[in-house]
Amino acid sequence: MDDPSKSSKTRRIILFPLPFQGHINPMIQLANILHSKGFTISIIHTHFNSPDPSKYPHLTFHFIPVGLSEDQASIHDILRALHLLNTECIGPSRECLRKLLATHDDIQCMITDAMMYCSKDVVEDLGIHRIVLRTSSVCSFLAFATLPLLQEKGYFSDHHNNLESRRDDPVPELPPLRVKDIPSIQRPNPNDALKIIRNMVQGTKTASGLILNTFQELEEPNLDYLCQHFRMPTFLIGPFHKFFSAASSSLLTQDRSAISWLDTQKPDSVLYVSFGSLAAMDEDHVTEVAWGLANSMQPFLWVVRPGLVQGSEWLESLPNEFLEITSKRGYIVKWAPQQEVLSHPAVGGFWTHSGWNSVLESICEGVPMICSSFFSDQTVNSRYINDVWKLGIKLECGLKREEIESAIRKILMLDREGQEIRERALCLKVKIQVSLKTDGFSSQSLNALSDLISSFQSSCV
Ligand code: UDP
Repeated sequence: MDDPSKSSKTRRIILFPLPFQGHINPMIQLANILHSKGFTISIIHTHFNSPDPSKYPHLTFHFIPVGLSEDQASIHDILRALHLLNTECIGPSRECLRKLLATHDDIQCMITDAMMYCSKDVVEDLGIHRIVLRTSSVCSFLAFATLPLLQEKGYFSDHHNNLESRRDDPVPELPPLRVKDIPSIQRPNPNDALKIIRNMVQGTKTASGLILNTFQELEEPNLDYLCQHFRMPTFLIGPFHKFFSAASSSLLTQDRSAISWLDTQKPDSVLYVSFGSLAAMDEDHVTEVAWGLANSMQPFLWVVRPGLVQGSEWLESLPNEFLEITSKRGYIVKWAPQQEVLSHPAVGGFWTHSGWNSVLESICEGVPMICSSFFSDQTVNSRYINDVWKLGIKLECGLKREEIESAIRKILMLDREGQEIRERALCLKVKIQVSLKTDGFSSQSLNALSDLISSFQSSCV
């Protein structure tokens, strides 16, 4: 805990992240960005999945006694974990915030992850402005915001009976999505997910501002629609990791031997494969992934996170033959320094689960993608990557070895489609660099955010 501060010179922001890797990374990056703009940063964090505070002497952490048991935090039931976090955090985080307000007179606002929708109740009556950080793309956020309409129109009714026959039908309310891309529609019980999403959207609509970790040049087609739905000041200030890397907030140890292995490979020759920190697959699917990689005959670096394969500690479920056949051209690690991997000259493609941080990190390095999707915003991100931005190839049939093999060959061996994707990816990389320059959109938007926060009267109780 820091000393109580009564200085009139400081301007303090309280951050309240969702404690999962893909949300901790952008929140810590945002903390660093705002710190560099002269703000003092305090972070309210659960004991659960907490980053190491000793890595951030310039940030102050206030831990709240909320822990989830291994079972409750199971990545196999992420909705339950989200619900529990939002229920369990209200009391302790409100108490923590109340104490902070009582001991500091420099608190300008609280910035909370959109998925910590309980923050609406946390700040109630405390007289503090709340800004929401949505860690994903505008296009997927708008898809979430449109789900109540889709529900009204019957997309989720009786969906088990109808889904198979309608999977590839277009969704006229949300072009270019197809029915199978609607977030949560493939869940056994989509109503639980819809409830959480509704809370998230409502919680955002009552905030004083909205920050998105994305950039104007990419999301241009959807910005008018965003303003119609979310009538508050909105700031697209990403990609955050171009200001500050995510390496330090990694909850797992990044295996640097991945980089030494890449050093031995030819330029643009390697497919990097990672499905992020939460996705899980069964043995049949991992077998398809393995044979898709093997049959493509291309070099690969694959992150097999412990827990990726349900019921396996690590590599036991992989076919022995696969490990033998690919031992000379494949390298497997438990967790990689992803940003460094993507910027390595040997990497020519990224097979991703389409988590937003991964997508942004790939776009920033001009690396073409092969897209799978498991849950949440991933279905929308992958559709946009394939159909709108044309920065990669979406695997339309799920995880099937033939489709995987064909996509890898297109991306790495550069047929015409692969070549065009690479050219577009490199072109966008340059646009991002421009957006981050002093007079670029992201930098200007960051300045506007800083001005808005500074304009708030500091609060105290
Ligand atoms: N990541 C990493 N090493 C890995 C795989 C992923 O450091 O081997 C990082 C990656 O750089 C990204 C985050 O973990 O910042 C994953 O976030 P994303 O939104 O892509 O997916 P999620 O894990 O939330 O599904």
